[in-house]
Amino acid sequence: MFGGLTHEPAVELANKLVEITPQAMQSVFFSDSGSVSVEVAMKMAIQYWNAKGQQYKQKFLTIRHGYHGDTFGAMSVTDPVNGMHSLFTDTLAQQYFVDAPTCSFGETCSDDDIEPFRQRLETSKEKIAAVILEPIVQGAGGMRFYSAEYLRRVSELCNQHDVLLILDEIATGFGRTGKLFACEHANITPDIMCVGKSLTGGYVTLAATLTTEEVSQTISNGDPGIFMHGPTFMANPLACTAAITSIKLLLESPWQQNVMNIEQGLVQGLERCTQLNSVKDIRVLGAIGVVELYQAVDMKTIQPMLVDAGVWVRPFGRLVYLMPPFIIDQSDLETLTAAVYQVLSSL
Ligand SMILES: *Cc1c(COP(=O)(O)O)cnc(C)c1O
Repeated sequence: MFGGLTHEPAVELANKLVEITPQAMQSVFFSDSGSVSVEVAMKMAIQYWNAKGQQYKQKFLTIRHGYHGDTFGAMSVTDPVNGMHSLFTDTLAQQYFVDAPTCSFGETCSDDDIEPFRQRLETSKEKIAAVILEPIVQGAGGMRFYSAEYLRRVSELCNQHDVLLILDEIATGFGRTGKLFACEHANITPDIMCVGKSLTGGYVTLAATLTTEEVSQTISNGDPGIFMHGPTFMANPLACTAAITSIKLLLESPWQQNVMNIEQGLVQGLERCTQLNSVKDIRVLGAIGVVELYQAVDMKTIQPMLVDAGVWVRPFGRLVYLMPPFIIDQSDLETLTAAVYQVLSSL
């Protein structure tokens, strides 16, 4: 256990994360999976306000179509419909949801777009510990790319109304959207940030929750004087070493160029899908390509067809999405997008 002791890989990785994330991120808490890092983030927010004598701030505000994990705290802030809240109603904490923004990435954000969020924050701020969002890209809840200006306005409103901002960078972190972290698109800094998934390049399970000096010191100086979470495998040395190595490989590679090339390849490769009557929308951001259909795919039919075409893609609902590794070359990317087109056109 990490309780009361430390080791070199944990220290090195924590330093590295502090170095590459937004400047205000100064403290790191390691855990084993993305969902747990979200639980940790939510607990941090609650303990922070508790230490400041505001024990009524225990709720969270988020937008619909989000995804934050499968454990109970994380599930409570995941989209109520996609997240199947109806199955768990008596156990699941009730949080505040507002409609997701309709302004897409690259667009401005009007007052109307932010109004539902602003209203909910203003009326319920006494009970809200934090806002939790996936920055720019809503992943498993709908693969939606929203306006950076919306995120910037959310951040401003959180500051104005004394509510913390948690950004879940588990899917977007480490270059996926073209910036090292998606919050850089909006030039904002969260109070708490979650990373996971590609933290170790997907090799070993590890996640981290980062926060500011202000939040960590307030928790440490409050009652009970410690942060109330302690996973057995916290900062597992093997996992930390894999993360250090993976981050080193990423930063030493021309990752920005690679992601731009993938973006171009995805745009070019998926464009032909717009001809299909079944296709509603194609969108690409960084190394994420999405084909949105009018109707949900039948997994039992489509999965073997994709395998026969030589690729492994896992669509969900109306979404066929691609998030290839950054080392993919143009010819593999062409194979991938051609297979998606071929299978969709033959359905
Ligand atoms: C995958 C994911 C999680 C959950 O991470 P796990 O490691 O699967 O528990 C949380 N948030 C986002 C945005 C994710 O994409």
